[in-house]
Amino acid sequence: MSILKVARMGHPVLRARSRAIDRGELKSTAIQRLIDDLIETMIEYHGVGLAAPQVHEGVRIFVASIEQERPGEESPPAEPVAIINPEITPVGTDIVEDWEGCLSIPDIRGRVPRAREIRVRALDRKGERLDLRAHDFPARVIQHETDHLDGILFFDRMRSFETLTFLDEYSRYWTKDD
Ligand SMILES: [Zn+2]
Repeated sequence: MSILKVARMGHPVLRARSRAIDRGELKSTAIQRLIDDLIETMIEYHGVGLAAPQVHEGVRIFVASIEQERPGEESPPAEPVAIINPEITPVGTDIVEDWEGCLSIPDIRGRVPRAREIRVRALDRKGERLDLRAHDFPARVIQHETDHLDGILFFDRMRSFETLTFLDEYSRYWTKDD
């Protein structure tokens, strides 16, 4: 496995729409290695999610450390999962605003409105169909990462730039205890 270079805002790869991949390609060594490298890179940089375009690969894959909810099953602990070809639909109409950051926009935070609850249909790294619901923080991460696959950055989703904040100032003025 390798730690990959993360594209920073301004690199055109972050503004391109990524292509879907089929099950055959998903099983290839190259794609399985990319998924391993995405996970290793995300952990190295303390991210909670990382999308393939952020490591200069224009395919519809992201990894995230999120708890998955499946009806009737207990949530497993948050460990990195790979989500391939995600399709997101909002559940309900609740929109919540909260802080986001991005490994491609280092040391910046801003408040972004997102659907509170979503349904996600996708493939996992083995090519199995995923159909899950997520709400609050995991839903936010999934929406942020799926946006990367469409060339959208969290700035694009902000209602205003008033909360755009450097990390130092975020710690100083916007957090209470942490
Ligand atoms: Zn991001």
